[in-house]
Amino acid sequence: IFKEVEDKEEDLEARPPVVVVMGHVDHGKTSLLDAIRSTHVTTREAGGITQHIGASTVTLNGKKITFLDTPGHEAFTAMRMRGAQVTDIAILVVAADDGVMPQTIEAINHARAAGVEIIVAINKMDKQGANPDRVKQELADQGLLVEDWGGDTICVPVSAVKGEGLDNLLEMVLLVAEMNNYKANPNCKARGTIVEAQLDKGRGPVATVLVQRGTLKVGDPIVAGCAYGRIRAMVDDKGRQVKKAGPSTPVEILGLSEVPVAGDMFYVANSDKQARQAADKVKAQGRLQILGQSQQKVSLDDLYNQIQEGQMKELNLIVKADVQGSVEAVKQSLERLSNEEVRIRIIHGAVGAITESDLMLASASGAIIIGFNVRPDTATKAIADREEVDIRLYRVIYNAIEDIKSAMKGMLDPEFVEKVTGHIEVRQTFKVSGVGTVAGGYVLDGKVGRHSGVRIVRDGIVVYEGKLASLKRFKDDVKEVNTGYECGLMFERFNDIKEGDIAEAFIMEEVPR
Ligand code: GDP
Repeated sequence: IFKEVEDKEEDLEARPPVVVVMGHVDHGKTSLLDAIRSTHVTTREAGGITQHIGASTVTLNGKKITFLDTPGHEAFTAMRMRGAQVTDIAILVVAADDGVMPQTIEAINHARAAGVEIIVAINKMDKQGANPDRVKQELADQGLLVEDWGGDTICVPVSAVKGEGLDNLLEMVLLVAEMNNYKANPNCKARGTIVEAQLDKGRGPVATVLVQRGTLKVGDPIVAGCAYGRIRAMVDDKGRQVKKAGPSTPVEILGLSEVPVAGDMFYVANSDKQARQAADKVKAQGRLQILGQSQQKVSLDDLYNQIQEGQMKELNLIVKADVQGSVEAVKQSLERLSNEEVRIRIIHGAVGAITESDLMLASASGAIIIGFNVRPDTATKAIADREEVDIRLYRVIYNAIEDIKSAMKGMLDPEFVEKVTGHIEVRQTFKVSGVGTVAGGYVLDGKVGRHSGVRIVRDGIVVYEGKLASLKRFKDDVKEVNTGYECGLMFERFNDIKEGDIAEAFIMEEVPR
């Protein structure tokens, strides 16, 4: 699942395996999942109504297994494309009467590429034409040699319709899980993956998440790509309200600001504000990328790590002063400058001149040296220049504070905010063969620029966010079009524009810090 290097071995606890069912169409993926779910939900759990939340847990001999409910490799591939590695084990369903088919091979390749364990379920064993040996031969041709033929691929004959072989299959899943010793730290802020998400009329954005590390709790501030919010309620796959969810547990969550993208990671932030800021950053980065203004791509993993550390950035300082009272006073006033984005760390504070040892420490830790009523001698100054250590000398605390404040600002990445510049109503559309759909628009307010970003919202859902491919007045390309004028528009990689759509034009502006 995730690189869990941050966790110490003693913090790790066994977690249920996460399983996906793959295979050729009509080989019985859905039937198998349904059969497993209906026979292996314990009576205590069965009190609730099984609810489709995109993933479910079943129990065998007191041990849990988590299934991703979307059969087939489309969901799996979509998630992997977004970098999500959620699955441990793939159950490859092959119909005993049909054998290995093109999508079976595709599934094998996907599972292999993702490095997940494959367990073969030869399904439809109840059928007349069932020929498990032929299936085994065809699997061998794909490089999957089953155990009874001397290989190490576990293969279980089942019948989803008759409910036969299911216990055996699940036992094999638990065996593979035991061999692989799947573990996670349940005692930290949660992170995981969005499995499914949609907008619910009554409840707002709803997402099914799979917790992969830590424990997710009601009330946690979370961020998932552009979406953020405080978890208002959680429902498990049995339809029960729950207050918390540990590793490998799927839950449906409420309280997000918008619908997140399946396959995106989510993580718990330290505060509501931090969750919102992280989401804003992701959102701004996405839009900057659309507009070709982006310098670097934001990595959710980096953001997560920064958030786990509590603050975004650290500024290390070494304080040297003439008397102990000044060392303390300078330390305290500088430490108080720490905020959510930059933390001030005084890594060393002492009375006396700035020495070579101070320089070495500064150089090793990237610290700035603050000298208060002290100065380095000529030799030390020369070393500082060579080692490129920043020494700043002050006689007044106020000056030191102002200086460090601006150094902190300088450490921050530039912040961009979106500015909506106008709206265009689409009044006509024309399909031009080989070109795409051209929209005839009318600028309702503000203006639209040739290089503006544009988005189209239908019933509260953003159906498109991208860039204009062209902007014309009559036959001419133009730089911008103002309120009250008509124009011809084309959208980059989007031809589903409809009469009545309102396109919102936006730009990204850098905000001064
Ligand atoms: P999927 O496309 O892989 O999800 O396949 P489905 O679960 O929809 O099953 C396709 C068809 O095969 C359905 O008509 C099922 O009733 C049938 N089927 C599935 N499992 C079995 C089985 O074990 N035995 C028999 N005889 N038919 C099965």
